[in-house]
Amino acid sequence: MSTRPLTTIGFDADDTLWQNEHYYRLTEEHFIRLLADFADGATISERLLEAEKRNLAHYGFGIKGFTLSMIETAIEITEGKVPSKVIAKILDTGRDLLSHPVETLPHVRDTLEALAGKYLLVLITKGDLFDQERKLAQSGLGDFFDAVEIVSDKTAVTYRRIFSKVGDGPERAMMVGNSLKSDIVPAIAAGSYGVFVPHKLTWVLERVEEPKEAPRFRKIDHLGELHGLIDSLG
Ligand SMILES: [Mg+2]
Repeated sequence: MSTRPLTTIGFDADDTLWQNEHYYRLTEEHFIRLLADFADGATISERLLEAEKRNLAHYGFGIKGFTLSMIETAIEITEGKVPSKVIAKILDTGRDLLSHPVETLPHVRDTLEALAGKYLLVLITKGDLFDQERKLAQSGLGDFFDAVEIVSDKTAVTYRRIFSKVGDGPERAMMVGNSLKSDIVPAIAAGSYGVFVPHKLTWVLERVEEPKEAPRFRKIDHLGELHGLIDSLG
């Protein structure tokens, strides 16, 4: 076992390594247009978010749950009168989301390349299993990772388990991601560093206060700053 203070780095995937929320927003705009005869955009968005919140505990995170929430919202908003043609279009738009192009964010490849081999790199992501596997394969980033963990939720228990299994425990690990709620706060609670890389589009349910007082909280503008940050930890 190494005696280095940091041996393992976890990376979130969606909106940390590649664009994701952008495609959800486009899908939601399409969904709003499909229901334009029944309600205004703000109402539809609000009802959709409520359905998503209700359904997280049943379906988990990802596109399949999002598609079911769109259908449920369409039924509610039209008081059961939504035409089957519209339901078919909602299913199509959900399927389109499963095949969107994978657009890697700036500095991602160079950073992973520089860190691979020096640290154990582990991809830790929520979402649909098929979808995340597809995106990882298409991103061409898979070889940089020593392990891939597709999980149903990200809690302190999740990080403790993964960093103990893959690395030398959470105290010698760091989690890097765009969600304060899923990537940063629970990783810090597990005893790891939490490095927040904000993305201009972040799902409203992933937003919480920055844990500014936490000694292991860090924030960078983009992944290009990660290597320098790690060096500064000694
Ligand atoms: Mg993310």
